[in-house]
Amino acid sequence: MPKPCTRCLLKDYSKEVYEKLITEGLKALPAEDLVPDEISSIRLDVCKKCEKLNQGTCLACGCYVEIRAVLKNGKCPYSKW
Ligand code: SF4
Repeated sequence: MPKPCTRCLLKDYSKEVYEKLITEGLKALPAEDLVPDEISSIRLDVCKKCEKLNQGTCLACGCYVEIRAVLKNGKCPYSKW
């Protein structure tokens, strides 16, 4: 695995881990629980500029932001999105 980037999403530094943890996790979610891609993209852009992001994980809540950002009921614990 490449050296982790603390300010990156998982997809940006490890395709292998991203596929295993995020892609597989997203497949298990009902489509009606998900926001459109444009919304999750805006949310993740905020996460990528946040000091709480560490290797795709939010240090404030422990979630994988790439999962939380696609959920309709997903919320940033600091109300950034
Ligand atoms: S969910 Fe909120 S606190 Fe966590 S990394 Fe994203 S913007 Fe930062």
